[in-house]
Amino acid sequence: MKKISIQGIKFDEKSSYQKGPKLAPPLIREALHCGSLNLFAENGVSIDNSAIVDKGDFEISEYFDIVEITKKHLSLNHKILTLGGDHSITFPIIKALHKKYPIIDILHIDAHSDLYDTFEGDKYSHACPFARIMENGFAARLVQVGIRTLNTHQAEQAKKFNVEIHQMKNLDLSTIPKFKNPLYISLDMDGFDPAFAPGVSHHEPGGLTSRQVIDLIQSIETEVIGADIVEYNPNRDFQNMTAFLAAKMMKEILGKMI
Ligand code: MN
Ligand code: MN
Repeated sequence: MKKISIQGIKFDEKSSYQKGPKLAPPLIREALHCGSLNLFAENGVSIDNSAIVDKGDFEISEYFDIVEITKKHLSLNHKILTLGGDHSITFPIIKALHKKYPIIDILHIDAHSDLYDTFEGDKYSHACPFARIMENGFAARLVQVGIRTLNTHQAEQAKKFNVEIHQMKNLDLSTIPKFKNPLYISLDMDGFDPAFAPGVSHHEPGGLTSRQVIDLIQSIETEVIGADIVEYNPNRDFQNMTAFLAAKMMKEILGKMI
C-alpha cells in the first residue's frame, strides 16, 4: 500500500481580497481530532492508519518553496494531501507532481474557475493557478465543478485550454466523466454554498451542498494520487462549521486515497 503524506501549507500571500487561509491547516486538524467525530470515512475506511503520515505545517516565505516541500514528500514515494492555504498553492504542488506523474487528470471543485492569465498584476494570484497548470501542460484533462462566476476572459481561457466546466446553473453530476489517468483533486471550500461553508474569503451563493461534493468524491473510480483542500478562511467562519466540513472532506478524500 502506498503511503500518504499530509502537508499543511501556511500561505495566503496571493489572496486578492482577504487574508486568513494561512491559519487553516492546524484548525482543520483540530476539528478532525477534537473528539466530535470518529475517524472513519463513509466508505468504511479508517484514517487512523499507519499509511497516513502527517508531516506537519510549513510556513512559506517564498512562493516556489512549495515546490521543494512537495518534492521532498513525493521523494518518499508517498501520495500527497495538502491543507492550504489559498488556491495559489495548487500550481507549485502540481509542478512538483509533474515529474513523477507526467499525465494526470484534475478534478477542480470551486465557485471560480481560477483561469485568469494574470490578476492584479500577479501571474501567480489565487485567481490564476489553473491557467499556469494548463499552459505548462501539467494536466491532460481539467474538469471543473461548481463554477458560478464565469466571465468573458475566463470563458475564453477555458476554451483555449479545453477545460471542461460543469457550471452550477445547469449542474448534472451524472454527466461528470469517468477519469482514466491518475487523478488529483483540488477542493476550494468556496465551491460549497456559503450556507455550508461560511468560512471562505469569497462568498458566492448558489453553490454545492456538502452531500453533492461527498457523492462526487465517492463516485471516483480511478486512483487518486494527490489532493488539496484550500481557501478555508477561519477569520470568517461561524461556530467552526467550515473547519468541520474541511475535516469531513479530509476524511473522505483520504478514505478514497488509501
Ligand atoms: Mn479557487
Ligand atoms: Mn474559489
